Amino acid sequence: ALGRNGFQFFDPEMQSSAMQRLDVEKGLHQALENDEFQLVFQPQVKPNGEMVGVEALIRWNHPEKGLLMPGDFIDIAEDSGQIIEVGKWVLSHALQQLKAWMNVGLPEGFNRLAVNVSPIQFMQVDFVDHLLAKMKELQVPGNMLELEITENMLVDNIEIASSKMKLLKLQGVSFSIDDFGTGYSSLRYLQYLPLDILKIDRSFITNLRIDSDEAAIVEVIITTADRLGLTVIAEGVENIEECQALQAMGCFCYQGYYFSKPVSAEELYETWCKAA
Ligand code: C2E
Ligand code: CA
Ligand code: CA
Repeated sequence: ALGRNGFQFFDPEMQSSAMQRLDVEKGLHQALENDEFQLVFQPQVKPNGEMVGVEALIRWNHPEKGLLMPGDFIDIAEDSGQIIEVGKWVLSHALQQLKAWMNVGLPEGFNRLAVNVSPIQFMQVDFVDHLLAKMKELQVPGNMLELEITENMLVDNIEIASSKMKLLKLQGVSFSIDDFGTGYSSLRYLQYLPLDILKIDRSFITNLRIDSDEAAIVEVIITTADRLGLTVIAEGVENIEECQALQAMGCFCYQGYYFSKPVSAEELYETWCKAA
């Protein structure tokens, strides 16, 4: 994989990790066939605790290995191209779940369901058509859906990304930048693309205090977002101190274990929809 101009020494550990990858690749085929994937959902909340959105996160109920987290297989699925099928599964199931919740009643303040989209998936020529067809089939309005994409993808493919975003935007779909602050430092795309939300990466939120070094960066992100008319969501909020610091800095939407871990669709409904 490193090209022919040079030589590499063989290390048994490399073979075992290559075999693990192969294992996962084969397993992913079966997972799609046998319906081994599952979505869990994490609420996004306002300072008063009201749920304003939800992010769908994938899990893999592996028949032998038990519950696998996206970190165990998403990279491999991206390398092998299987992310395209996995991504379709995610979109379809997320939309089905959203429709089911709409039927039983979502809380008043609920805006959107957010779905993670891999760059490879987003760059497929038929991505927009496929998504629009799914939305039509399942009768989900675009304004209930948000797609989370990463800044690296945008910077690499700004023209194509922007035209796809504009098409979906016409149907009401929103876009958020995931892991904001961790990718390339070019900020030009923020001005150029039809974005709605910036999600501040968890690495800036951990131990955030009003006078910490991270606070300087977080403040810049919040100010920039405000000036551009974008909403900011802080990811990975784990305690009240982080939450208070964010609020003092002008960020009013949070996602993290302090409010809820990702939970099953049933639990999300029981805990966050029924009571509201
Ligand atoms: P992400 O999009 O940044 O998702 C947030 C991750 O942070 C989730 O991990 C979530 O469980 C975790 N998290 C949320 N709140 C807290 C917190 O307070 N503390 C800590 N320590 N962690 C928190 P998860 O579910 O393991 O997902 C990891 C990554 O996998 C995601 O990062 C996303 O990039 C990717 N991913 C997940 N689902 C999908 C999917 O359906 N499609 C694609 N393409 N990628 C996905
Ligand atoms: Ca995400
Ligand atoms: Ca993120």
